[in-house]
Amino acid sequence: MKTQTLLLGQTLRFTGNPLSDPWEDTVRIDSDGAVLIEGAHIKAVGRAGDLRKAHPQATVKDYGDRLICPGFVDAHVHYPQTAIIASWGKRLIDWLNTYTFPEEMRLSDPEYARDIAGRYLDLTLANGTTTVCSFATIAPTSVDAIFEAAAARGQRVVAGKTCMDRNAPDGLRDTAQSAYDDSKALIDRWHDKGRASYAITPRFTPTSTPEQLAALGALWSERPGCLMQTHLSEQVDEIAWVKDLVPHARDYLDTYEEHGLVRDRAVFGHAIHLTPREIDRLADSGASVVHCPTSNTFIGSGLFDMAQIAARRIPIGLATDTGGGSSFSMLRTMAAAYEIGQLRGTPTHAAQLMWLATAGSARSLHLHDKIGTLAEGYEADISILDLASTPAIKQRSENAKNTWAQLFATIMMGDDRAISDVWVNGVRRG
Ligand SMILES: [Zn+2]
Repeated sequence: MKTQTLLLGQTLRFTGNPLSDPWEDTVRIDSDGAVLIEGAHIKAVGRAGDLRKAHPQATVKDYGDRLICPGFVDAHVHYPQTAIIASWGKRLIDWLNTYTFPEEMRLSDPEYARDIAGRYLDLTLANGTTTVCSFATIAPTSVDAIFEAAAARGQRVVAGKTCMDRNAPDGLRDTAQSAYDDSKALIDRWHDKGRASYAITPRFTPTSTPEQLAALGALWSERPGCLMQTHLSEQVDEIAWVKDLVPHARDYLDTYEEHGLVRDRAVFGHAIHLTPREIDRLADSGASVVHCPTSNTFIGSGLFDMAQIAARRIPIGLATDTGGGSSFSMLRTMAAAYEIGQLRGTPTHAAQLMWLATAGSARSLHLHDKIGTLAEGYEADISILDLASTPAIKQRSENAKNTWAQLFATIMMGDDRAISDVWVNGVRRG
């Protein structure tokens, strides 16, 4: 008999997608809710009284009026940039050259990579994030480091070796052939092993030659169950550079498309400055895009058009983009997404923000049948939110007319102090 634990509190539940249907019809909060965990999975979700009666043998953990929600899913991060988060004063290309590349070089030391991977996962877990999709560095050992650290914590993680064979310094370049060989060996070592899954990871067109993108496209057709993650149309200067590098391409997306890298299971970070053709192609292909709002404001990239992308039903994930993003917190990331929506005249509701940070991100990573939702059969990755975690939030919460208003205050003003507890794969990690 597996251990059963019954969590009591308010529960956040999804029955649909609040970006394509009204949030009131697709997301709800049950004030007297309960989640039954059995082993590593969610066995039942329902009303506290009903589940208590049906499962009298379960150990009860009563969270009072705290909010039981799916663990956060951060759909685009660079764990190797943990130690350089919040570095001052550069836009994308200079930021990479000044801060990112020297730090990523340091992770060629496997011991340092292990240190950073563990530090990163501890920091994100403290912020209620139970799954991340991360770029590693060009060193295969940096991929081993994040998967090993995740396995030690029981976490579901997606990651891949970052491939770069041009426009990067000595020591951070591979080749088309070695990128193919190393990525293939890593897929065979890690993909679908325990809770690990692999993403083939060209950093972006400026740092991958057409030969390298072609080699990775070939590899993906041999291992079609993997994800493919990269960057797309983050900054205007970057797009101009891509045009110089690949003058025959119709647009930025085409530089990936011509090598078989645009289809479902492709995950494109940023996607801010898209042409109509790119949006049409993304919508047809089943590929996902990932919104990284704190990064987009911090590095000065632009305002993601959530309403337009959502209207085309392109799957959208939400992400910190550590360390281009300025926070490890998905609460802060939701707040930034709200602020960008306001600047565009399309504010997102708390229900939509919470969906993006959990089920939406899981869907963008093709993990929506495993994580991101409180429902029977899902893996028990759960975060508990305190909706009155600081004096400032508490006084706002006491003046709120309903739980949604309380939750919105925590989204806008909350941080790791709002995370009361975290469960990973059915094990309490809080
Ligand atoms: Zn990124």
